[in-house]
Amino acid sequence: MRHSNAIGGNLFSTDAPERLKDMLEREAAKYPFLTEAAKLVDALNLQLDDLTDPTYKKVLDRATERVVQAIEDGTIDERLDDVLTELLSFPVAVMFVTIKDEPFLSRRYALAEAVRVYFLLQGEERDKLAQIARDSFGWDLKDSGERYDGVLHDFRLHFNDYLRSSSSFHEDKWKLVNRIVKNGYVLLTQREVARLIQGEVETLIKEQVSKTVKINLPEPLQRCLERISKVFDENRQRLGGEDLPSEVTNEAFPPCIRYCMEGLLAGRRASHMERFALTSFLVTIGMPLNNLVDLYTSVTDFDPAMTQYQVEHIAGVRGNRTKYTPPLCDTLRTHGICRNKDDICERVKHPLSYYRIKAKRLAYQRPQKQP
Ligand code: SF4
Repeated sequence: MRHSNAIGGNLFSTDAPERLKDMLEREAAKYPFLTEAAKLVDALNLQLDDLTDPTYKKVLDRATERVVQAIEDGTIDERLDDVLTELLSFPVAVMFVTIKDEPFLSRRYALAEAVRVYFLLQGEERDKLAQIARDSFGWDLKDSGERYDGVLHDFRLHFNDYLRSSSSFHEDKWKLVNRIVKNGYVLLTQREVARLIQGEVETLIKEQVSKTVKINLPEPLQRCLERISKVFDENRQRLGGEDLPSEVTNEAFPPCIRYCMEGLLAGRRASHMERFALTSFLVTIGMPLNNLVDLYTSVTDFDPAMTQYQVEHIAGVRGNRTKYTPPLCDTLRTHGICRNKDDICERVKHPLSYYRIKAKRLAYQRPQKQP
């Protein structure tokens, strides 16, 4: 879709055989940034005003949801139950983010779409990965199949492409000196190729949403943008970690986090969500990562290296470099972690909001130091 006005008609009004049509639509819905997917959308010649038709309500809803999920969760689900809605909702979501023109939102959205692609690529055949890498990003990527230290390296990538696509990765394993290079090609596993593609997708989408676009949106689209703005404003502070006490204040922990912490100290077997909530909360409020690893390993039999890896992943210093924030109260409630609520709980939707309020209350109650 072009923001100027063009998305129309039936996607395949031609005589494309049904199976081919299904396959192309499905591929395009999975990877809507591909040139072929963009061509399919362009072929529709859909105009902005067409989106005001109730027929496209699902597209507007899904486009809004894509951006809202990016804001709230840092990723976007990989559903494919309605491929046409998936395909069309991508350019509409890009349009919303572009018009919003908030650099922080643009970065977060691009990363969330890229992480979605990374998860989808995990389930693909190696040929598909190679096709995307070559056709969309022009990589000189060849099959390898060599095994070193028991690890199968499915691919080799020309070192120029490797250096460019890995330039924003800071982990040691991506440094060229730590790679196996043969005749100018870097050996890579399939997962590593998927990760590098994720980086390319992120860059591509960042470029798309960084353009300056001024459009007067028709009413239903304007309402979607208002919803996005509202969610963005509600989450901005949480995502930026702004306005939190400068020192970790244990007494201000919300009841849910206390429950997780006490369970950990008592040796209770914690669920994945409990560990995630606790770790992301402690990371966000500024507990040093080493202290966190020490905390886990001192009271459990967790493997220190693995614990360190997981903590760093949640803190955004590893992996896809997303810094995870604790889940919303609603999510914790669903997982049975929202316990022992008190009066502050009645006012908040997020554990970090609880923490801010409680910390301020405690500071106010503390006796002032005499000069
Ligand atoms: S309402 Fe929110 S902050 Fe309070 S215990 Fe439940 S999840 Fe935690």
